Amino acid sequence: EAKERENQFTLTEFANKWLQAQLWETEEGKQIGYSYFKERGFTKETMEKFHLGYSPKEWSAFTQYALDKGYTFEALQSVGLTVGNKDRPVDRFRERVIFPIQSFSGRTLGFGGRILGNNKKTAKYLNSPENEIYHKSKILYGIFQAKQAILREDECILVEGYTDVISLHQAGVENVVSSSGTALTPEQIRLVKRLTNNLTLVYDGDAAGIKASFRGIDLILEQELNVRVVVLAEGEDPDSFARAHKEEEIQEYFKTRATDFIRFKVGILKEDAGDDPVRNSNMIQSVVDSIALIPNLIQRELYIRDASSILGIGEEVLFRQLQIKLAEKD
Ligand code: ATP
Ligand code: MN
Ligand code: MN
Ligand code: MN
Repeated sequence: EAKERENQFTLTEFANKWLQAQLWETEEGKQIGYSYFKERGFTKETMEKFHLGYSPKEWSAFTQYALDKGYTFEALQSVGLTVGNKDRPVDRFRERVIFPIQSFSGRTLGFGGRILGNNKKTAKYLNSPENEIYHKSKILYGIFQAKQAILREDECILVEGYTDVISLHQAGVENVVSSSGTALTPEQIRLVKRLTNNLTLVYDGDAAGIKASFRGIDLILEQELNVRVVVLAEGEDPDSFARAHKEEEIQEYFKTRATDFIRFKVGILKEDAGDDPVRNSNMIQSVVDSIALIPNLIQRELYIRDASSILGIGEEVLFRQLQIKLAEKD
């Protein structure tokens, strides 16, 4: 079993090398893959740092090469690099730019592949399927490249996508990772907790991003980390934002716009609530519900005080409401 895992790592590493070679050394890779990344503003250095690659159009170029080198069809299938059947094996990733996904210690676990351009008929991103070595709920994209900076800054910035991580990194903001499209999980938060207790969410400036922030906040509070939120302008994501601004501007924006989760929730919910008393009370309840998720009593008390001053509601009332919520949970 352990031996098989080792072999799978060897294979993903082998694939990683090949996919990078396609990008840098083949005509197709240079013309299509490299140009794509360049157009997105990625420098050579960035492409190398993130081991970016390219998978050619041909149906089974990688699989054939790997079989020739002695890897078995079963092994290729087990890490999700090959689909189809033994008589007609097909590469999972074809005609896509490739984002290898690395572990905390830098091992290649799997891959994300993006279509070139914006063809709405095909899924924009394709990822390795769940397998022995790739568990998407336990992985944070970019953690290997970000870990030093997270320790140094004592803060981890969490974004939605691969290109958000890469563009921020290239702009000089290196303490950034992504859950890559999947909803944030407790395992991912625990991975961050090895490095820092301070998490800042910078999700896409759209309804989905706001919704994901609400969910993320509660999970993070449950794990007893501090959470702050930066809201980007409508239609903006960290990638587009990073490309349009200098490092100092990005740092400044993040610093001045990051709000604690109470102000974030109130800011969003207040807009809908207006003067409606029921909606306002729902808003207050939503803040109390989040606080109720915090295991630590002292932290809870501190947040109740914050909430009281932000909402203009007495601490006593909030405490009583908190007790009711906690009783419901038991
Ligand atoms: P790009 O800038 O390349 O268009 P993005 O990162 O802004 O991509 P989003 O649509 O904001 O793309 O999605 C955020 C992340 O969710 C992606 O980086 C990717 O990891 C994941 N994702 C998006 N679409 C899909 C999909 N169809 N299948 C699987 N994962 C996806
Ligand atoms: Mn989005
Ligand atoms: Mn996006
Ligand atoms: Mn984007």
